[in-house]
Amino acid sequence: MSAAPLQIVNERQLNTRTNNVYTPTKYTVGKENLQHTSNKRPDHHHDQHKQPAPKKKKEKLSALCKTPPSLIKTRGRDYRRGHFLGEGGFARCFQIKDDSGKIFAAKTVAKISIKSEKTRKKLLSEIQIHKSMRHFNIVQFVDCFEDDTNVYILLEICPNGSLMDLLKARRVLTEPEVRFFTTQIIGAVKYMHSRRVIHRDLKLGNIFFDSNYNLKIGDFGLAAVLANDRERKFTVCGTPNYIAPEVLTGKHTGHSYEVDIWSCGVMIYALLVGKPPFQAKEVNIIYERIKAGDYAFPKDKSISPDAMVLIEDILSIDPLERPSLDEIMDYVWFRGLFPPRIDPQTLSSGPNYDYLDMAQSQANFKACMTRSGLTSASSSSTKDPIKLVKNDLEQERSRTILPQSLSPGGTKNKYQEVVDLDAQKKLNDLAREARIRRAQQATLKRDLVATSTNAIKSEISLRILASECHLTLNGILEAEAQKRMGGLPKSRLPKLKNPIVVTKWVDYSNKHGFSYQLSTDDIGVLFNNGTTVLRLADAEEFWYISYDDREGWVASHYNLTDKPQELARHLEVVDFFSKYMKANLSRISTFVREEYHKDDVFLRRYTRYKQYVMFELSDGTFQFNFKDHHKFAISEGGSLITYISPDRESSTYPTVELLKAGELPEHPDIDLSDKIFMMKEGLKQKAAIVSTAQPQI
Ligand code: ADP
Repeated sequence: MSAAPLQIVNERQLNTRTNNVYTPTKYTVGKENLQHTSNKRPDHHHDQHKQPAPKKKKEKLSALCKTPPSLIKTRGRDYRRGHFLGEGGFARCFQIKDDSGKIFAAKTVAKISIKSEKTRKKLLSEIQIHKSMRHFNIVQFVDCFEDDTNVYILLEICPNGSLMDLLKARRVLTEPEVRFFTTQIIGAVKYMHSRRVIHRDLKLGNIFFDSNYNLKIGDFGLAAVLANDRERKFTVCGTPNYIAPEVLTGKHTGHSYEVDIWSCGVMIYALLVGKPPFQAKEVNIIYERIKAGDYAFPKDKSISPDAMVLIEDILSIDPLERPSLDEIMDYVWFRGLFPPRIDPQTLSSGPNYDYLDMAQSQANFKACMTRSGLTSASSSSTKDPIKLVKNDLEQERSRTILPQSLSPGGTKNKYQEVVDLDAQKKLNDLAREARIRRAQQATLKRDLVATSTNAIKSEISLRILASECHLTLNGILEAEAQKRMGGLPKSRLPKLKNPIVVTKWVDYSNKHGFSYQLSTDDIGVLFNNGTTVLRLADAEEFWYISYDDREGWVASHYNLTDKPQELARHLEVVDFFSKYMKANLSRISTFVREEYHKDDVFLRRYTRYKQYVMFELSDGTFQFNFKDHHKFAISEGGSLITYISPDRESSTYPTVELLKAGELPEHPDIDLSDKIFMMKEGLKQKAAIVSTAQPQI
């Protein structure tokens, strides 16, 4: 598959000729509009409003399109116009034949409907994107040119209508057919996404049948190209029934490739049930239902449980919970009956696939995947040699000479199939769990927004804090690597030391500052001007700590008896807090000063997040008091983790051992990996703040 970069259409490529033939006004209701209101191309509608007011019916822009002359001459080529093929919101389509007798579809856009620069750019973008697509299941772009009245886009002819036409004729389709269609659609979408194109208007009416009844996706009018895979798009667009929830709710967070996956889920549902899942009379109600994930499988239709699982997973409100295109193709549903092709009679009556057996179906599925670029051998992605060998083998098997009935392996193969399905179901479940976890973590990360912190005005102090965060983060990463290697021998485990932790705190920063008590019983106040007074518990002494731009924090030691006069007020505040905390707060941990706690410790920074309060202590310990009252401290460069339960029970473990166990001893109910993920995110955020020029929260 070629993967040439997208090319910009040169405007000169659209040449001019004169034509003034007028189209007899033919108003047809857009096919998809029978199913739902179309809100495509809002700017086109905008242009339309500038036209003289339509008399009764609201005319579509495509109605402005003039019938092309019966002979169209362009750049030395002659095309003969054939019959009218169909009409969208914007364009009319005619059959057109070249000198050699080859037939194409000419999508014709009236120039009068391209009034604004924005509309013109959109048309050029559609042409540019469509022109650079080359895939078995995408309508092939052939050429484009213009005359005085119209712009013509020459396309591969799809003479057998759209999936919408098929559904209208048949009301519902069989699961084998829908498997076939879905495979071809996913193949095309995977190709688009690999070229960083999001279609954004996948719907039954935009997917056509070619002369061999293979599907071809068309209409790139709303397609967008991403500059990189992290880019997000913000324009609210699509067709109501098919719009993904994040397009409606994420006006600020944007959307990406997953919107196309959502539309695929809507289409599978619609083909099996007969109408789209969120269908309602009013567009607003459709939107409400989409945002709430409000749909159901009708009881009177026998949809297989495997199909329901696939649809339910695709229609996950959280885009990250949706399966990827590759994951979709691994769903057990695809292991059911699978036709070799779609027959023309299919358009009028339901096919009978009773003749198909599992082995044939599997071979048909593989062949369909290969044609649509979904196997490693056929896709444009880097080939994995092991998979290639496996594929070769599978192809060998489908070429066996003896019929199944004569093969002694007949029943064994069937048994094998059952075993494989079970394994596949388990893999699907695991993948789903992993997706849900990923999605939850992404949400947690997005929601980790600091609400308050003490501003630090010294660059050097910020650098010290950032490097402590790095050090601890690396320590956790190292423990994670050690866990992957099977853990550490006892002799190499870090020595257990209970850290000094914050046992009480009061945020009075709207007046004086942030006050805390440590497990050593020392009391500190981090004043709003950035200085700290740390009153020691076991002596009549205190520290006065400030920072400067050369050394970071500078601490001066004083006896209470000879305290400088200017600090008297500070000490009064410390006393006030000390009494307040004693009277009102209970100590969160049983930890006390240990022999190995040689140095006095103070709080360098506190940060209050929605999910926890993060404390950064001067000995490099980080403490996280989660909102659910579980608390953690990470000390000794990330090699030790302390857990403090809501009822003050405190214990310290080597990080690698905790990771190995996967849960807290005696507290298996706590989601340890979620907590560690959140703490790492806090550390990452803080590690990035190295300048006072950056906002700190
Ligand atoms: P719009 O951009 O206005 O929505 P579409 O691309 O959906 O236009 O095309 C309008 C109609 O033209 C389609 O519904 C279909 O009936 C017909 N059509 C479009 N492309 C083809 C094609 N390649 N072959 C045959 N008919 C086509």
